[in-house]
Amino acid sequence: MPLVLVVEDEANILKLLAFNLTKEGYQVVALNNGQAAVNFMKKGKPDLIILDIMLPKVDGYEILRMLREKPETSAIPVIILSAKGEILDRVLGLELGADDYITKPFSPREVLARVKSQLRRKTSLRKGPQVVEENVVRYKRLVIKPEKYEASMEGEKLDLTPKEFELLHLLAMNPGRVFTRDLLLEKIWGYEHVRETRTVDVHIRYLRQKIEKDPAEQEYIETVRGVGYRLRSMG
Ligand code: CA
Repeated sequence: MPLVLVVEDEANILKLLAFNLTKEGYQVVALNNGQAAVNFMKKGKPDLIILDIMLPKVDGYEILRMLREKPETSAIPVIILSAKGEILDRVLGLELGADDYITKPFSPREVLARVKSQLRRKTSLRKGPQVVEENVVRYKRLVIKPEKYEASMEGEKLDLTPKEFELLHLLAMNPGRVFTRDLLLEKIWGYEHVRETRTVDVHIRYLRQKIEKDPAEQEYIETVRGVGYRLRSMG
């Protein structure tokens, strides 16, 4: 069974998570401070980490940064726990490479669903279903050819501007991962101009009109309220 590392200093929450994950059949390592997590990571290899942000000794951001820096831990899915209303926590966590976030208070059922979905995504990324030929990205009915700056939907070429193309390509390479508006601005537009995050919203809207059958349905590009956008993960 997959090994889940839970790092949380609030004893009640730690106990609740450990209890529910164990009941679901996962192996669980439950730690109540950041230093213990750093020590554990020197020898342990969890399949997934649930990480609280505000931790004594070493905080969640620091742990996340360390995980993402090392090749052997960079692909481990990390779900961060953030306090209610702390959008900044979430945004920074996602920019540092967290895969998902859960807001406290949460229901155990919600946590189990997120854990399951991240582990499934990890398995499917390892198999790499969305990249089946060299330099071609496939996602549902969408085919992207990065070298030609071309994308097509059900065999029909899409008329995309270069920025729309780059946005779509970035999202499609990371299905399920949430990108904040600021991160998209940085990755697609760079720092050459001070732009408003509204630029991202406008481009996403045009992109949706071109790729979604019904833009309101968000079959491909999903709005994550208060945070940003992601390509809906499959299954
Ligand atoms: Ca805490």
